[in-house]
Amino acid sequence: MAVSVKEASDQILAGVRALEAEHVPLREALGRVLAEDVRSPIEHPPWDNSSMDGYAVRAADVAHASDSAPVTLPVLETVAAGQRPTRALGPNTAIRVMTGAPVPDGTDTVIRVEDTDGGEHRVTIRDARDAGRNVRPRGEDLQVGSLAVARGTVLGAAHIGVLASVGCAPVAVHRRPRVAVLASGDELVDVDQFDLVRSGDRIVSSNSYTLTAAARAAGADVVELGIVADDPAEYARRVQQASGCDLLITSGGVSVGAFDFTKDVLRSLGAELQLWRVRMRPGAPIGFGMLGDMPWLGLPGNPVSAMVTFELFARPLIRKQLGAANIFRGALDVRVREDITLGAPLTHFMRGVVEWERDGAWARLTGPQGSGLLTSMARANALVVVPPDRMVVKAGETLSALLLGDEGLMSSSFDV
Ligand code: AMP
Ligand code: MG
Repeated sequence: MAVSVKEASDQILAGVRALEAEHVPLREALGRVLAEDVRSPIEHPPWDNSSMDGYAVRAADVAHASDSAPVTLPVLETVAAGQRPTRALGPNTAIRVMTGAPVPDGTDTVIRVEDTDGGEHRVTIRDARDAGRNVRPRGEDLQVGSLAVARGTVLGAAHIGVLASVGCAPVAVHRRPRVAVLASGDELVDVDQFDLVRSGDRIVSSNSYTLTAAARAAGADVVELGIVADDPAEYARRVQQASGCDLLITSGGVSVGAFDFTKDVLRSLGAELQLWRVRMRPGAPIGFGMLGDMPWLGLPGNPVSAMVTFELFARPLIRKQLGAANIFRGALDVRVREDITLGAPLTHFMRGVVEWERDGAWARLTGPQGSGLLTSMARANALVVVPPDRMVVKAGETLSALLLGDEGLMSSSFDV
């Protein structure tokens, strides 16, 4: 059966649920997905405080201060961050405060020290530009009960800082999926048998490397099941080693070749299979099914096809198991630098390099696009998506692109 990319994705993801929560130390939570809404038990900041080193005053008392008509006030005390004021701020008085220090009730202004003579017991103020400014009100950032970080957030540095501020440690995150990765093919060896590659008898199972790396990058714990020969009995034994995992990813053997046993083996183990010819390129048939309650994703063997189908189907699945609110890469508009002519009305995922110019994002292709050319993937920072109804695209026209990670947004120059 031929299905669109969207239909395959919908069916694969339909039954997938976020895994259960576990508590981890906050310092180890980077990249994990928050399993519950975290609300603040406190007001933050907990007191009205100064955003400047300066003098807490009442705006009315300094409103006309200037170089020609400076205002001099008695300084009642000095309050550092970490101290509390002991004096109330009456009319025509000042309290010297440091950044972050609580300001006394009645303060509506902190005059920055640069606009004063810096006096300790009396202060002369020469500028009124801060009148009504520089007081950060208590609870400005978070109120009691306000949402600090939402469930489904992939925790980055700022989230971890907010969670620390509200005392959320340890933190509840979804368990990482255990993802088993199995490559199949009589022609494959691991790199430790590179002599057989040099002699021209075998190729390295690069999928064993790309798919395990991609699964880890997506947030999974990987169980490497290695390489299995095109032998149904051996294949079945190896698949059983995935028991207890949350996802099985295989590569190879899902096509119509005489030695493509993957689907027969999965069926013999009781899986109900969907095998689709997805209307996309690269990406030959994709297999999907449930082995008990473990999903199986059968990716094609061609190295680029395996990676692209991983990107489109496995990565969102893993992120859904991780509980992430956003599981798909966002698409970005890019203009293409070259004409693209395609031979079939399929959704094409072309390896491209997105470059940032003053007038926006431009994409060039990495060269020949064969599904066996893994270097085309290694050179790319994006998949440029050509929809099935646009078999001819002219240079300068706009397509969408999926950036393959943050590196695609990095620049060699400081452009701010
Ligand atoms: P298959 O999907 O098994 O028909 O394989 C399609 C193509 O991908 C063949 O050229 C295989 O040699 C190649 N291939 C399959 N599995 C791998 C792998 N694990 N690593 C690198 N190439 C592979
Ligand atoms: Mg094969």
